[in-house]
Amino acid sequence: MKTAKLPRAALGPLTSALLVSLLLSGGPALASDTAAGAASGTAAEAKPGKPKKPQKSKPPKTIVSLTFDDGDATHVLAARMLGKRGMRGTFYVNSGNLGEDDRLTRRQLAAIAKSGHEIGGHTLDHARLTELPPDELRAQICDDRKALMRMGHRATTFAYPYGAVNAEATRTARLCGYAAARTTWGLRQWTCRNCPATETVPPLDRWAIRAPSSFVEDTEVRQMKQLVLNAEKAGGGLLPLIFHRVCDGCGLYSTPPDRLGEFLDWLAARKNRGTVVRTMAEAVGGGR
Ligand SMILES: [Zn+2]
Repeated sequence: MKTAKLPRAALGPLTSALLVSLLLSGGPALASDTAAGAASGTAAEAKPGKPKKPQKSKPPKTIVSLTFDDGDATHVLAARMLGKRGMRGTFYVNSGNLGEDDRLTRRQLAAIAKSGHEIGGHTLDHARLTELPPDELRAQICDDRKALMRMGHRATTFAYPYGAVNAEATRTARLCGYAAARTTWGLRQWTCRNCPATETVPPLDRWAIRAPSSFVEDTEVRQMKQLVLNAEKAGGGLLPLIFHRVCDGCGLYSTPPDRLGEFLDWLAARKNRGTVVRTMAEAVGGGR
């Protein structure tokens, strides 16, 4: 009996009886406010309809963001695969290319957003920002964001096409109202063994969030897992992962659905190690 742990000596028999009846009835704040209640898990907490006292949960150690670039039509499948596992991803789209061959339609994008995924900006038509004069730079980033917002998307975060970024591009992304922007480089992987395993939380530079470079068609599940394991081993942090097309043998920047599924199943099971999946907006916050 849980009440056996109560310091009975300090309570009169009447008080003690009252306490027991309160505990059994799910009575006043007593149960969860006393040390005894907190220590024993209390009968009151188990009662349905009783608001639980907010538990201070430990913040997750490793945050994995699954990002999908370029608004490819196969992202309908990718979003569904994530959703099936209770995960939400971030889809960086080029608003100017929506509806073209092999690209998402506006309708499909709206459906992806409706399932809880984040929609972020990736310029109007995938421009290499470091090669543009200021007015074109602004159009590529601001007009893209405005277009996404007109479609009802919040567009909180941004991704630089090709990971190409300079001071002017970051200044413009900020000016256009984004909260943060992701690159495609800077974290540890097979091509950069000395890079850190994770981005810091909050990011060291929210206008140049680091990531391992994009997965390509011969990136094995083993290598995807290794990035997560490295992140966990380093003590956690933010690990944005970059996918493009999700289909079989459909180009250099593609991942077969089977491979993605296998990785996602494995990733879902890392939850008990403090590893969780969050959208980029959730991971970095902010935006207007
Ligand atoms: Zn891209």
